Amino acid sequence: MQKIDGKLVAERVLSECKEQIAELQDKGITPGLAVVLIGEDPASKVYVGSKARKCEELGIYSRKIEMAADSTQEEVMAVVEELNNDPAIHGILVQSPPPAHIDEEAIVRAINPAKDVDGFHPENVAKLALEDPSGYVPCTPAGCMRLLKDAGVETSGAEAVVIGRSMIVGKPMALLLMGREGNATVTVAHSRTKDLAEVCGRADIIVAAIGKPEFVTANMVKEGATVIDVGINRVEDASKKSGYRLVGDVAYDEVAPKCKAITPVPGGVGPMTIAMLMQNTVQAAKFANGIA
Ligand code: NDP
Repeated sequence: MQKIDGKLVAERVLSECKEQIAELQDKGITPGLAVVLIGEDPASKVYVGSKARKCEELGIYSRKIEMAADSTQEEVMAVVEELNNDPAIHGILVQSPPPAHIDEEAIVRAINPAKDVDGFHPENVAKLALEDPSGYVPCTPAGCMRLLKDAGVETSGAEAVVIGRSMIVGKPMALLLMGREGNATVTVAHSRTKDLAEVCGRADIIVAAIGKPEFVTANMVKEGATVIDVGINRVEDASKKSGYRLVGDVAYDEVAPKCKAITPVPGGVGPMTIAMLMQNTVQAAKFANGIA
C-alpha cells in the first residue's frame, strides 16, 4: 500500500511556483493575491492567514481585506470591483462561507473571471467543461489530479467513482477525471445514489468528498483500489489538547490495507489545495502579462 504524501507533492508544486515567480520577477512582475474575509469566522481566519503566509514565503504579494460581519452586499461588491481594477492584484478570492445575509454567488459572479483563481465563476466552470486551458480549475480537484499523477496512478480507462457533487469538489473532479487529462470512466455518486457500496465496489479510483467522518468503509472498496480522501471533519477526541482531531471521509485504518494507494487526513489533499491556489495565482499573473 502506497500512502500518498500530499505534503511532499504540495512542496513540489510550490517549488515549481517559486521558479516561475523568479522568472516573472526578472520581468518586473510580482504576482498578487487579494483575499477578502467578511466577519469573524475562526476557521476562515485560519485559512486566510495560511494563504497569506504561503504567499509571503513564495514572494507573492498578498493583500488581506477584512470586512465587518455586518458589511452590506453593496460594500462587498464595491471591494471586489476595486480589486478587479487594481493591476497589482492578479487573483481575488472571497473566503467562504460569508455571513448568511451575503449573496455569495452574486459576489463570485462579480469577480473578473481572469482574476477568479478559485475557478468558481461561471465562465471558468464553462471553460473547465470545455477543456479550455485559459480558465482556472478549482484548487481542490486540481490538487487531487496532481496527487494521482505524481503517485503514478493510471487514470486512463480506469473506473472512477466520485462521491459528492458539489461545485467546489465533486463536479469539477468528475469533469477532470472524465476529460482528456483523466480519460477515466466516471460515476458520480451523491446522497440519492442507491447501493453506494456496490457502486464504489466497482471503482479502481474513489474520490470521497462527502463531509461525513469515516463514511467510506472497507466493504465499499475493491482490493487494489486507489482512494483519494478530500474530507476534513472534526471529531471529538478528549485525548487531544484541542479536544478534537481531524478525520477524512474514509475510515483510513480499515480501508488502507485494501488499497494500492490512499491519501491520509491530514497530510493528503489538504496541503494540495493551497499549493494549487498559489499555482493559479502565478498563472493569473502570466495571463495578465500575456505570458504562455
Ligand atoms: P458539500 O456538503 O457541498 O457536498 C457533499 C456531497 O456529498 C453532496 O453532493 C452530497 O450529496 C454528498 N453526500 C452527502 N451525504 C451522502 C451520502 N450519505 N451518500 C452519498 N453522498 C452523500 O461538501 P464539499 O464538496 O464542499 O466538501 C466535501 C468534504 O470535503 C468536506 O469534508 C469538506 O470539509 C472537504 N473539503 C476539503 C477541502 C480540502 O482542501 N481538502 C476543500 C473543500 C472541501 P447531495 O448533493 O445529494 O446532497
